[in-house]
Amino acid sequence: MSEQKTPAPAANFIRNIIDEDIRSAKWGGRVETRFPPEPNGYLHYGHAKSIFLNFGLARDYGGVCHLRFDDTNPEKEEQEYVDSIIESVKWLGFDWGKHLYYASDYFDTMYACAEYLIQSGNAYVDSLSAEEMRAWRGTLSEPGKNSPYRSRSVEENLDLFRRMKAGEFPDGTHVLRAKIDMASPNINMRDPAIYRIKHASHHNTGDTWCIYPMYTYAHPIEDAIENITHSICTLEFEDQRPFYDWLLDKLADGGFFKRPLPQQIEFARLNLTYVVLSKRKLIQLVEEKHVDGWDDPRLPTLMGARRRGFTAEGFKRFTDQIGVSKSDGWIDMSVLEACMRDDLNEHALRRIAVLDPVKLIIDNYPDGRSEDCFAPNHPQQPDLGKRAVPFSRELWIEREDFEENPLKGYFRLFPPRLDASGIMQPGNKVRLRYGYVVECTGCDKDAAGNITAVHCTYLPDTKSGTPGADSVKVKGNIHWVSARHAIDAEVRLYDRLFAVPNPGQERDYIADLNPASRTVIHAQLEPALKDARPEERFQFERHGYFVADLKDTKPGAPVFNRTVTLKDSWAKVEK
Ligand code: ATP
Ligand code: MG
Repeated sequence: MSEQKTPAPAANFIRNIIDEDIRSAKWGGRVETRFPPEPNGYLHYGHAKSIFLNFGLARDYGGVCHLRFDDTNPEKEEQEYVDSIIESVKWLGFDWGKHLYYASDYFDTMYACAEYLIQSGNAYVDSLSAEEMRAWRGTLSEPGKNSPYRSRSVEENLDLFRRMKAGEFPDGTHVLRAKIDMASPNINMRDPAIYRIKHASHHNTGDTWCIYPMYTYAHPIEDAIENITHSICTLEFEDQRPFYDWLLDKLADGGFFKRPLPQQIEFARLNLTYVVLSKRKLIQLVEEKHVDGWDDPRLPTLMGARRRGFTAEGFKRFTDQIGVSKSDGWIDMSVLEACMRDDLNEHALRRIAVLDPVKLIIDNYPDGRSEDCFAPNHPQQPDLGKRAVPFSRELWIEREDFEENPLKGYFRLFPPRLDASGIMQPGNKVRLRYGYVVECTGCDKDAAGNITAVHCTYLPDTKSGTPGADSVKVKGNIHWVSARHAIDAEVRLYDRLFAVPNPGQERDYIADLNPASRTVIHAQLEPALKDARPEERFQFERHGYFVADLKDTKPGAPVFNRTVTLKDSWAKVEK
C-alpha cells in the first residue's frame, strides 16, 4: 500500500478514546488491539471493516494488533478455516508479527479463574435443566428467580466443578454460573453460564477437556491475558460489557490481572446491500452449491473478493470512506464497487477485448497485410507507454457497434440508406480506436437473417497518430481486435449475487439470488493479453475491469473474471 498518498485518518469516537488514553497515560502510551475471528467459517467483507479498524489503529498509533483465533467452541472449528483466515488477513496487507494466538491455549488459565470465582463466592454450579434455567431467567420486564442450587457451599461447588472437569457427568447436567444478580435489569447479568459440559474433541486440545468456557466468559480473559488495551467489537456485545467489566474486576481482585483492565468498545457492524454477511448463510450458499465454493467470485468472502479482482487497497478506500460509528446502518453495494473502480482506474492497464464479436471486413485493405497501431497502456499515465496492436483486413468488433436500422442518435456503424428525399446516403463513418476511419458499406446475413459480417472501406490517410489523422471528423469511436491475431478466451461476467438490496426481507433469501450473477462467454482479446498472469488486472476499454482468474488461468491461456463494470449499471434499476 502506498504510504505517502494515504491521508491522515479521519477522527472517530474510537480514536478519540485512544487519544484521551494517551494524553492521560492510562496505558503508558501503549495501544494493543486484536482481531479475534472464530475459525468456523471464511472471512467476509464485514470482517474487512474490523480488520482495517483493529490493524489500522495499531499501525497508526505505533501499537500492535494480535490475530487471535477464538476457538473455545470445540464443535464447528476446522484447520481449513484457520488457514484461510490467515491468508485473507495477509492479503489485506497486515502482519501480526509474533502475535498469533489461540484462545484454546488459555484453557488452563480460564479454568483456574473459574475455580477462583467459586472460592471467592462469585460462581456456583447449577443443576437446573436448560429449559428450567431459561424459564427462571425472567424476561425484559420481569426479574429472574434464584436457582435452588445458588446457595450451594463453596466446597460443594468446587467438588462438583472438579467432577465436571473429570468427566463424571453427561452433557447438560450441570453448568457453572457467575453469581451476580438474578434481578438485574440487564439479562446478561442474571448469573450467566460460564462453563458447560461438552464431551467433544477440540481441534487444538484434543480430548483434554470435556468442559468448555462460554464465549462471553472466555473473551474478556483472552483480552486480559494478552494485555489488550482496547477490545473493539460489534454493537451486539454492548449489553455484555457490564459482565466483561464485572468479570475482569473480580479476577483483578484475585490477582490474575493487573489494572488498568482492557476496555471493550463497540462499533456498528458493516451491513451491505445485495449480499448476506452471516457465516451461517454463507455456509448454506456453499453447501447447497448456489455458488462454486468459498472463493466463488460472487460470494462476499475475502477469498471470493480476491478472485473477483477486488483489491486490498480498494477495501482500504472503502473502510476509510464508510468510517466507524456507533449507530447501525446500511451501506449500498455501489459504494464498495465505486471504491474498487477508483483503485483499479488508477492501477489497471488498459487492454482491448471484444466480448460479443462480429466480423468487420475492410474490403479495400489488402489480404495478408498487417500493421501495428499503438494504444496507450494508461491514458492518465503516459510514462506507462504504448503497446503495438496489430491491424489487418478482418477485425472483430462488438455486435452492438453495428446497426442495420439505426435510431436517431446512433453514431456507430450503419450501412448506406435512402434519406427522406429518396437519395442514397453513404454508410456511417467511425474511427477504429487507435487505427483508421472506416466507412460502412453493408453486411452479410445468414438464412435466418442474422448478421454474420459487416463490411467497410478504410480511409488510408486517417491513421491515428499520423499528420492527416483528424482530417475526417467522426462521432463514433469503436474498439476492435485483429481476427487473425486475437486470442479466444473464456470470460466470466460476474454481477451481484442477489437481485434485491435486502435479501430475505420479503421471502427466503435463497429465492432472492440473482439468476444472472454469472454469464460465461467467449471473447476475442488483443494478443497482449495472451500472457496475462493469474491475478493481473486490466481495464477492458469500454467494458470494465477484469482480472485473470487466480485458479483457471494457465500460461498462454488466460481466463478472465469481470470485477466491476465501468459505470454503476444498477443505479438506474434502483431509482
Ligand atoms: P459468528 O456469528 O460466528 O460470531 P461473526 O461474524 O461475529 O460470526 P467472528 O469470527 O466472531 O464472526 O468475527 C470476528 C470479528 O469480526 C469480530 O470481532 C466481529 O465483531 C467482527 N465482525 C464480524 N462481522 C462483522 C461485520 N459485518 N462488520 C464489522 N465487523 C464484523
Ligand atoms: Mg462473533
